[in-house]
Amino acid sequence: LYLDQPLEAGREVPATPGQAHYLGSVMRRGPGDAVLLFNGRHGEWEGRIAAIRKDRCALLPERQARPQPPQADTRLLVAALKRDAMEWVVEKATELGIGLIQPVFTRRSVADRVNAARLAAIAQEAAEQCERLSLPRIGAPQPLPAVLEAWDGIPLLVGAERGERPPLARAAKGLHAPWAWLVGPEGGFDRVELDDLARRAFVSTAALGPRILRAETAAIAGLTLLQALAGD
Ligand code: SAM
Repeated sequence: LYLDQPLEAGREVPATPGQAHYLGSVMRRGPGDAVLLFNGRHGEWEGRIAAIRKDRCALLPERQARPQPPQADTRLLVAALKRDAMEWVVEKATELGIGLIQPVFTRRSVADRVNAARLAAIAQEAAEQCERLSLPRIGAPQPLPAVLEAWDGIPLLVGAERGERPPLARAAKGLHAPWAWLVGPEGGFDRVELDDLARRAFVSTAALGPRILRAETAAIAGLTLLQALAGD
């Protein structure tokens, strides 16, 4: 369970009402039952349910089971997609250990708003499920040009589905984390965006084979390959 609080042996911490409901009503856990706790800073803690009643629950951390692993600076920039696709991408990218998920608005984005709070909740659930000890940061959704203007220069690979593009394995040669992967919206990037990307020194384009993938497929396939090729 993720708790946004310091974790120390013997210091009780309250669960959120949602977590209390999940533990008590869904998982049927009661006082004394074991739980695993993390807060993104102090590693993983074995602990117990100290008290539980409806939507209130006190948890008692007992022993640190794993230290906090370092969080790599790996980033997924994803155009605002339809809600289900966006949520799926956030869940899978979290499972894969991404450090930052940055939603971007592009000229052909179908979705004109992104519910960042909902995405953060999905990331938390996914982190709890896969026993990852940190949450990815969910960047405030921004227009793509603003993100590029503020970029700190780490290599940004862009999924490009048309034209003569090197395969990702070639584009990522010699690359080591930190890195970032950018995927366009359902309708793809437009010419202006592709020209803007092409003139940035930190950008390179890469293909994931000859087929046009759905944006969510490209997001997760690219991340998986980059992890394998460039680490983290
Ligand atoms: N409608 C667009 C078209 O026909 O050109 C397709 C856009 S595709 C559904 C959405 C995004 O996924 C693209 O902007 C690109 O970033 C990524 N993508 C799709 N297929 C890809 C591939 N084979 N290699 C790399 N990226 C890909």
